[in-house]
Amino acid sequence: MITGGTRGIGRALTQRFFEDGYRVLFIYRDSVAEAENLERMGAVGYRCDIGNERELESVCQKILKEEEHVDILINNAGIASLGLFTETTDELWRRVRSVNLDGPLYLCRAFVPCMIRRQWGRIVNISSMWGQVGASCEVLYSTAKAGLIGLSKALAKELGPSGITVNCVCPGIIDTDMNRSVDAGIVEELMANIPVGRLGTVEEVAALCRFLAHEQSSYITGQILGINGGYVIT
Ligand code: NDP
Repeated sequence: MITGGTRGIGRALTQRFFEDGYRVLFIYRDSVAEAENLERMGAVGYRCDIGNERELESVCQKILKEEEHVDILINNAGIASLGLFTETTDELWRRVRSVNLDGPLYLCRAFVPCMIRRQWGRIVNISSMWGQVGASCEVLYSTAKAGLIGLSKALAKELGPSGITVNCVCPGIIDTDMNRSVDAGIVEELMANIPVGRLGTVEEVAALCRFLAHEQSSYITGQILGINGGYVIT
């Protein structure tokens, strides 16, 4: 199960797992044409707003009814939010938090019981390097993503005895739509500080997630893995 499977990192994840022979379910919201393409390929799409608890609840019930089990959950869908902290509103905070943190938490709670029953599971939460170190003018986003790091660590401890690993991937600047609206000058400035000298690719993030979901990654849990070209080294 991959959230935000229609574009960017999620699209690469859907492709990668599908090519590796998995039955792939994905959640999306607006990209209907892209979802239809993926469905033609054989993946199964569920349309819902991750930030809307009622929609999420009904989609999870549907999935649990239609599928025997969900073994791998990748909480990838997320939204950015740029602006001065003093100009943020409660409404914006609720939106950023609900998509980036509440939704992933809800999905973990929905699918963990079937992983526990099977004593096997993989959860990968996609946070951000800004969740690790904080970003100016992205306070809400950084806060929600830091919450996802906390969720991953605590859940890893609770679910380890049940054969379920929980890890958190923190991408740096990856070449996707999410960064299209960022001023080109800012991207260039950021790039100048990336030791490997380029943006990351969606395929590189998908490969890391695929690795974490592998049978042989069973001893890696509760880890916060940066994939940022050396921009942030913790
Ligand atoms: P994109 O903006 O390229 O794609 C976002 C995906 O999430 C789309 O498939 C979109 O679906 C889906 N989505 C967004 N909001 C919702 C929602 N409310 N309900 C359901 N689906 C939703 O994002 P990226 O691929 O760049 O980012 C993926 C993840 O990686 C995010 O969590 C992001 O925070 C994180 N990340 C990205 C970085 C980057 O530089 N790109 C850096 C660090 C972290 P649809 O189009 O169908 O609406």
